[in-house]
Amino acid sequence: MLTDDLPTEIVQALLQLGRQLLKHARAQRDRSLAEHEDGVLAAWRAVAPALLEAVVQLATTGLDTHARPIAARCPGCQQRGGVQSRRGRQLQTRLGPIGMQRWWHHCWVCGRGWSPPDQALGLAAYQQTSTGLEWWLAALGAVTTFREATRLLGDLAGVQVGSETLRTHAERLGIQLEAQQRRAMAQVEEAHEPPADEYVPAPGALEVETDGVMLRYRDRDLDGAPVEGDWHEVKLGLIGGWQHGHLRQPS
Ligand SMILES: [Zn+2]
Repeated sequence: MLTDDLPTEIVQALLQLGRQLLKHARAQRDRSLAEHEDGVLAAWRAVAPALLEAVVQLATTGLDTHARPIAARCPGCQQRGGVQSRRGRQLQTRLGPIGMQRWWHHCWVCGRGWSPPDQALGLAAYQQTSTGLEWWLAALGAVTTFREATRLLGDLAGVQVGSETLRTHAERLGIQLEAQQRRAMAQVEEAHEPPADEYVPAPGALEVETDGVMLRYRDRDLDGAPVEGDWHEVKLGLIGGWQHGHLRQPS
């Protein structure tokens, strides 16, 4: 058998996918490409979370079904050992919701709780959304309304997230980026040097352009429906290097 050396979790998900595809093909004979796209996509999305779950479980020490607790030092006080219990964790990801069961360590010296698999997976305490999905939420939330972004995410990726959740993530990332920018600005003002990270000098002559436009802000009524707000003047600035008749590295 081809499946001999494959673990059960993966085989089960792939068999389920295969059955769904066959069922679709038989039921939708001589239908349009659009209908087949819908059918295959639906079948894939139904098993995708199980496949991610299986991969995470197979690839992470301490997550396999028969895993015993790992002897680990407390990240707080370096004390060995600690009280352990099995705990579940749920996460929303770009492939849908997944769950895992792992050993939870509790340090009896400093009271700190931690889990080695969480550390390996790069999961923060109380994190409920994968970092990849957080970026999707923030990117979509930045280009359109949160309600529209939620709809797009459902349509394009099959990921169901409430618009309130999306707003929280988009705003949190916005605040982080703004703080980063403020730190860089403060550094430039103080040191009269370019910011240390990700600084690439623009080539040619320095070109600075500014302009202003009148924008009508979009507001929301008490039910969250968009309403037209006040007009504001928004200032725009563009800086780059002018070389061979083109603006290079604009920001
Ligand atoms: Zn400790």
